[in-house]
Amino acid sequence: MTEEKKQHNLECTSKKHKDHVCFLMCEGWHLTNPAEYKALVNDAEFRCRYCDRTAKNQDNLCGPLKL
Ligand SMILES: [Zn+2]
Ligand SMILES: [Zn+2]
Repeated sequence: MTEEKKQHNLECTSKKHKDHVCFLMCEGWHLTNPAEYKALVNDAEFRCRYCDRTAKNQDNLCGPLKL
């Protein structure tokens, strides 16, 4: 079995990338902070066109697209 390491979007040049759901999930942040994670993704209105993550706030995505 090969282990696939998930990479976050390295092409994201935003200074806020560390606030992006894409990055946080790669760090396993959603596992240690499930409540905060839920708050970010609940009633998602945007989707990242790079990583396919969804979030309520466009500030939490690299390339937000309105859903
Ligand atoms: Zn990003
Ligand atoms: Zn992204």
